[in-house]
Amino acid sequence: MKAVRYFGHKDVRVVTDMEKPVPSGDEVLLKIGGAGVCHSDLHIIDEGIVSGVTFTLGHENAGWVEEVGQDVKGFKKGDAVLVYGPWGCGHCKPCQHSQENYCDHQSEQAFGGGLGLNGGMADYMLVPSSRLLVPIHDLDPVIAAPLTDAALTPYSAIKRSLHKLMPDEYVVVIGVGGLGHVALQILTEMSGATIIACDITPERLEFAKKLGAAYAINSMDKDAAEQIQKITGIRKAKVVIDFVGASSTIDLGTKVVGLDGDLTIVGLGGGKYEYNMNGLPFGVSMTNPYWGSRTELMEVIRLARQKKIHIEVEKYNLDQAVEVYDKLRNGQIKGRAVLIP
Ligand code: NAD
Ligand code: ZN
Repeated sequence: MKAVRYFGHKDVRVVTDMEKPVPSGDEVLLKIGGAGVCHSDLHIIDEGIVSGVTFTLGHENAGWVEEVGQDVKGFKKGDAVLVYGPWGCGHCKPCQHSQENYCDHQSEQAFGGGLGLNGGMADYMLVPSSRLLVPIHDLDPVIAAPLTDAALTPYSAIKRSLHKLMPDEYVVVIGVGGLGHVALQILTEMSGATIIACDITPERLEFAKKLGAAYAINSMDKDAAEQIQKITGIRKAKVVIDFVGASSTIDLGTKVVGLDGDLTIVGLGGGKYEYNMNGLPFGVSMTNPYWGSRTELMEVIRLARQKKIHIEVEKYNLDQAVEVYDKLRNGQIKGRAVLIP
């Protein structure tokens, strides 16, 4: 079968000689419908954050059950499912709470399919346990694939701050790409707060306004922080969610977040922050959430089935993977690219 393989630093190739896996025990073989192309893949490919292993890329996967191992109950051939991405041990306390994203054993094992283990940019994917599958019912797997990360990650980040996102507050979203464009829709649906979006091109800022941002500011403007403070006034923003995570965006976040606010850094842009007691308003919580729980994924699926969020999808085939990564690198993907076998 065909697969998009990571061979090492800056080395991604499409191969055609992979064997179609056979599931046993609690394993499930999926026929892939779609595999989302996440910016985290670029951190792996360009920065080599996963080293010494060769694997199939793709950690945003959806498809149909093709074959089940002898111990699998509750799934049958043809069922449409999403693959929950952060694979934990399944037994520790966070995993029992469905928070496999915070599994006690994260430091001892690969993070999941497409992140050190074989992922879904292939004709078929072997999922190690039926526990990791979430039914999507009437959703199309091609459109639904990015829900498992591009929607789940912002959803979980926003839920942490929901009690602060009152109608008289402001929330700043930095980066309106794959994750950010869904964050805007989730905020519109779940909070009354006024949204201020930041990106670096006029097209992205226009896109943000279509998705619920009341204001859109170019974060490359030297006075971006002042422009935001002019909107928010003295109270500043109650919550800032940074989907870039570069030093410049973290710096912007610290300037616009208000007292007792949340500064949530989701982007893995390698930014640095030097703590300075006078540089951050009192009471600010700075967090770096990772992905979301399995039960939150069920909630996200419900939002999508209710048509309250939708992923803006650009469709490509597996052979175009290297070209699609180039486009993502150059900021040329609007919403999320999905590879379809
Ligand atoms: P993306 O490439 O689709 O979107 C990034 C967006 O940020 C683009 O619209 C780009 O124009 C914009 N941008 C770039 N520099 C900017 C700046 N200085 N100011 C404002 N906007 C800027 O990426 P994505 O797939 O949405 O991923 C975003 C980040 O989140 C990546 O670093 C990714 O690795 C990370 N991520 C983290 C988690 C987690 O669990 N913490 C999960 C998934 C992705
Ligand atoms: Zn991702």
